[in-house]
Amino acid sequence: MHFEEEIKLLLSSRHLIIYIITDEEERLEYTISQITQRDCQYSIYSWDFIDGYYNNPNYVKQAIRNPLGALEFIDNLESKTPKIFFLKDFHVFINDISIIRKLKNLYRSLKKSNSHIVICASEIQIPILLRENITLLEFPLPNYQEIKAELKRLFSVLQMNSDLFLEDLVIAYKGFSIERIRRSIAKVILSDRSLDDIINIISEEKKQLIQQTDILEFYNSTNKLEDIGGLVNLKDWLTKRTDSFSKQAQNYGIPSPRGVLLVGIQGTGKSLSAKAISQHWGIPLLKLDVGKIFAGIVGQSEERMRSMIKLSEQSAPCILWIDEIDKAFTKLTSSNDSGTTNRILSSLLTWLSEKESQVFIVATANNVLSLPAELLRKGRFDEIFFLDLPNFQERSSIFQIHLMKVRPLTWRNYNIAYLSNLTDNFSGAEIKQAIIEAMHNAFYEKRDFTTEDISIVIHEFIPLSFTDQESIYTLQSWAKSGKIRFA
Ligand code: ADP
Repeated sequence: MHFEEEIKLLLSSRHLIIYIITDEEERLEYTISQITQRDCQYSIYSWDFIDGYYNNPNYVKQAIRNPLGALEFIDNLESKTPKIFFLKDFHVFINDISIIRKLKNLYRSLKKSNSHIVICASEIQIPILLRENITLLEFPLPNYQEIKAELKRLFSVLQMNSDLFLEDLVIAYKGFSIERIRRSIAKVILSDRSLDDIINIISEEKKQLIQQTDILEFYNSTNKLEDIGGLVNLKDWLTKRTDSFSKQAQNYGIPSPRGVLLVGIQGTGKSLSAKAISQHWGIPLLKLDVGKIFAGIVGQSEERMRSMIKLSEQSAPCILWIDEIDKAFTKLTSSNDSGTTNRILSSLLTWLSEKESQVFIVATANNVLSLPAELLRKGRFDEIFFLDLPNFQERSSIFQIHLMKVRPLTWRNYNIAYLSNLTDNFSGAEIKQAIIEAMHNAFYEKRDFTTEDISIVIHEFIPLSFTDQESIYTLQSWAKSGKIRFA
């Protein structure tokens, strides 16, 4: 639903305290005042900590530096007409017990005069005692039309002709607030760089935004799809979607791919695939450390999740790599974290199924059996791929890839078929490890390494898969029954 419609619905259905999250209070205040002006029903009273009430001539400077006073003012107003009290930064004061109590007590008088409190906050800080009384809403960042209108306005003020790159700019600025767009344009104009360079400048700004946080990390990947041995279904699927984030694909009517879940035991190439997709599609890779979402203080994790989603949408089109998602979410989520894990999971699930932005999710998991069933349900990911242990053919190509890397001229001298035969039950990572181990052994003896050196290492090696047979069997049977797909 559009934000304006949603607000109107909340006002008419008597949601008395509405908590809106935004970093754009000016735009929000403007939007709310537009709604009230159009409806002509409400008068609006705005308050902030420094100026007190400021936009109603009869009550200027009331309750300066006095948040409790701001609420008492609401209680004492005689007039019976419906009003909206727009309180800025109130999340800073809302955890105070006198504020909590006063807000609860205000309920009756708000109801009587059909008035509402709108709290404008930059983060979620709702005390548990008020959860039932407050309706939470997010003020969306400017949409395509709004960005376009703002850019047109800016360029006409600057008397510049922007027709040539307007469309590209609108897309590049998706995820920015209006204020940030204004600052960004000003920066470009004041710098020596040409307007043609603007798209690069915007992507640098996006990178800086990400770097300011510790939840997401820009990942520079050099791995290509050709570096992956086997996994032909996965590679084929990805190759077919190479240009699916382009304007041409959008014009063609193709919805942007949403994401994949890659499952399988450790070392089968899940991380390698995430990195290679980014290279192959030519879009940036952001790595999410799920553990960092779960911060110590109650409420903070939700806030971090929200800002992670926002940041990744700002960087779209991009790949969001959620590494080891199974470590954060398990079926048996304990109840001793006051439901935080479940709330985070449900906001992730909602985002996965409703997201319209061009953020392609690559989630990886070793232990899929412990993952909550909701994550595996249709509609969350485009596909769930099972990265099985490589078969003979696949092992051969993994040997070839790694030997070619270290011995680009002489790799043909190694008996790859022989080695592939010996490595039943080895993962890709273990094959690579065997080669490296053999190199160390031979290097120590001051000679080049041979097929024999690798085979000695292989014979001494106990592959991880021997300890994880149960999950491999289950995954194989799921993939055979079509529940998930062989990669
Ligand atoms: P996972 O994320 O599944 O635990 P990784 O992708 O981290 O496994 O694998 C570790 C390393 O092992 C990779 O960087 C790569 O060098 C090697 N490797 C694993 N699978 C393959 C494969 N299918 N083809 C080529 N190399 C592989």
